[in-house]
Amino acid sequence: MSKILIIEDELSIAELERDYLELNNFEVEIETNGAAGLKKAQEEEYSLIILDLMLPDMDGFEICKAIREEKDIPIIMVTAKKNDIDKIRGLGLGVDDYVTKPFSPSELVARVKAHISRYERLIGSTALQNNIIEIRGLKIDRTDRRVYIDNEEKVFTNKEFDLLVFLASNPNKVFSKEELFNKIWNMESIGDIATVTVHIKKIREKIEFDTSKPQYIETVWGVGYRFRM
Ligand code: CA
Repeated sequence: MSKILIIEDELSIAELERDYLELNNFEVEIETNGAAGLKKAQEEEYSLIILDLMLPDMDGFEICKAIREEKDIPIIMVTAKKNDIDKIRGLGLGVDDYVTKPFSPSELVARVKAHISRYERLIGSTALQNNIIEIRGLKIDRTDRRVYIDNEEKVFTNKEFDLLVFLASNPNKVFSKEELFNKIWNMESIGDIATVTVHIKKIREKIEFDTSKPQYIETVWGVGYRFRM
């Protein structure tokens, strides 16, 4: 079941949103305080956050910015003023959508559903619950530490596996060889950043259909590597 966090100081509005969402089989938590809401958003797993812009202790902009530093789950901003929409857009905070008060609860539910399904498609069928990452024929089982391509198992060394999982868990972000080396080989003194290149080559040989045109791990020239989602 998808869990939603509502950060809203007007309890009657929060409860109205909650009632409609619960009728649609969502699990809902309410926080009426900005700082407490932010803490929950950072520490717990939600499918979506409905965030009121005007809160007594912290504004929605600050909260959104802080959530975005750690998570890319959908955020719907609720505002009382139409003028705020331009500001929300202008700040480039990564808000997925916004609604202005008063809004129709059923429209909010429709948007919530649309954003959750879009996000789930975006992250492939990444099932965080069972620790399996599945993207375009590549399946990584983090619990069993096994990798499959079109259901055929590929044998990975520990470091190759760690490197692949790290990249696949942070899709569409570019990491330099230095960053990858520090992440995967951290305190071990043996090896240098060339080790990263060697491991990427070995991983590609196992998972790519054509290593000259990689569809999973892309080289970003002069920068590093990126796992394409
Ligand atoms: Ca408010």
